[in-house]
Amino acid sequence: MEACNAYYYATRDPLGRDGDFTTAPELSQIFGEIVGAALADCWSRAGSPGDAIYVELGPGRGTLAADALRALRSAGFSGEVHLVETSPALREIQARSVPGAHWHEQVQELPERPLLLVGNEFLDALPIRQFVDGIERRVMVAAGGLAFDRDGEISEDSPARDELVARISRRIGTRGGVGLLIDYGHERTAFGDTLQAVRGHRYAPVLDMPGEQDLTSHVDFETVANAAAKTGVSVTPLVTQGEWLNRLGIGARAAALATAHPNRAEELASAVHRLTSPKEMGQLFKVIAIHAAGWPQPAGFAP
Ligand code: SAH
Repeated sequence: MEACNAYYYATRDPLGRDGDFTTAPELSQIFGEIVGAALADCWSRAGSPGDAIYVELGPGRGTLAADALRALRSAGFSGEVHLVETSPALREIQARSVPGAHWHEQVQELPERPLLLVGNEFLDALPIRQFVDGIERRVMVAAGGLAFDRDGEISEDSPARDELVARISRRIGTRGGVGLLIDYGHERTAFGDTLQAVRGHRYAPVLDMPGEQDLTSHVDFETVANAAAKTGVSVTPLVTQGEWLNRLGIGARAAALATAHPNRAEELASAVHRLTSPKEMGQLFKVIAIHAAGWPQPAGFAP
């Protein structure tokens, strides 16, 4: 999974109608603006520290960064922008959306400063392991292609994801800041095979065309929350994306944009529906935040 995704992302722009999948920030500017407003609110309530930096994990086309930074800049934030991105192809596109950004291969390379961090559909792309009866399931070469070496009731874990969450949590805990992690997944650890492949906006068999389709898994947010909490950082309750966006005023923002641009009213209403409806992305996608002691809990998580 790690090798396939490294090749996959390094060699293409997978996003949008002509690609393999579409993400929330690519659906509407409102998504990034709300992320930016949530970070800006936290930053100003923390006393607007001048050394804070905007950090994004796996920024795709840089659309979320550009929209979030517009909101952050208008709230007075003038800090640097640091993007954690391994794909050379996507870095090139990000450089156009986010001029002046700094790039890193890994979170360990980020400067030791307070972080205003976001990762959307990043954790799902990190490699997982699958187990059947406590034994790790492996991929083997079989007649006619690749095959799994065992079948049965599957459980999953992701040491890579746990490690990454622990690293950003330790950073935020010691240097200050807040992190928003947004992804599809479940609130409690459970049995089940969630590995999936997407190509051309359709699900595909996971072992088909290695490195040519997007491989992801559902994020186990119970494990993510534990990995963060273990470092001593504060962790919010998990909320659905629909709930979070509604609490942060997506309706009002869409109405304001529609008044200013009446010709876009239909497109805005449809984007809000896709982002918030439980039948679309509103329920499956979840948001969790971590924040340092001395930094306020971001808005949208208190019941
Ligand atoms: N956040 C964007 C893109 C999501 S796709 C959006 O919402 O539109 C996943 C992103 O994570 C891509 O930018 C991909 O290149 C990047 N990525 C995947 N694995 C990574 C890794 N191990 N380290 C850094 N970036 C990674």
